[in-house]
Amino acid sequence: MRILVLGGTTEASRLAKALAERPEIDATLSLAGRTEAPAAQPIATRIGGFGGIDGLAAWLDDHRIDALVDATHPFAAQISRNAAAAAEKTGTPIVAFVRPPWERQPGDRWIEVASLEDAARAIGETPRRVLLTTGRLGLASFAVAPQHHYLIRTIDHPGDLGFLPDHALLLDRGPFDLAAERALIARDRVEVVVTKNSGGSATHPKIVAAREAGLPVVVVQPPARPAVAQVHDVAAVFAFLETVAGHRPHSATERGE
Ligand code: NAP
Repeated sequence: MRILVLGGTTEASRLAKALAERPEIDATLSLAGRTEAPAAQPIATRIGGFGGIDGLAAWLDDHRIDALVDATHPFAAQISRNAAAAAEKTGTPIVAFVRPPWERQPGDRWIEVASLEDAARAIGETPRRVLLTTGRLGLASFAVAPQHHYLIRTIDHPGDLGFLPDHALLLDRGPFDLAAERALIARDRVEVVVTKNSGGSATHPKIVAAREAGLPVVVVQPPARPAVAQVHDVAAVFAFLETVAGHRPHSATERGE
């Protein structure tokens, strides 16, 4: 069975590790190539865009892919839309392996917004000390609020940030633990946390640390997802693959080869 996993997330890496133990499944992991030094993976990996829906559809056909797993980040809206459309076009079974978004808990002071631009405005007029964790791409959205002190945490160096005159950089990759997040908030006298609602456990401790410190958190909510079946754990991905294996044509003739 040949499968393509669209990755770039902790979930995809976890799935890749499990797939490496299943030699009967010929799996390829696809990364966009945004991170300079992506984590090493135990299965075949390809890097770079496919060229839109048609490019992905052609890749699925050329590699005779039996099933597609969309394990991309909840905010990677374009590739998820492309995956749904290419799967439909080629008749490839697809499942989305996604993390449920975080839910507001008692004690949380969340300001929920729909975009990075809205997040920048939601910090307010008064200059604040902001822990900004929305990722390297999209920082330009905060140019409308240059009055704040930003502690910007990204995996790779974000390049020239001259439009945010008062900032400090923290280059780090999750998972982050609660003790370290508490210490960071205290040491840098953070007053507001800005985050995407990315779900999952790897970056959740900042939400808990902010709650404990009574800080407001500007939370950018995820975009709508295409209508594709969703699963939330590796076991459910394998259950989906078994269903596909049970239905797929078995001989080369049946596959039209
Ligand atoms: P996006 O806006 O949804 O996708 C833009 C284009 O990048 C896609 O049309 C596709 O190019 C290419 N692409 C995206 N993911 C790909 C993948 N896994 N394999 C091959 N090509 C891919 O994506 P994004 O938000 O820039 O995210 C890029 C990658 O970073 C994804 O793999 C995602 O899982 C990961 N990531 C994103 C975020 C986030 O906050 N957005 C956070 C953590 C990790 P073509 O049209 O040419 O195929």
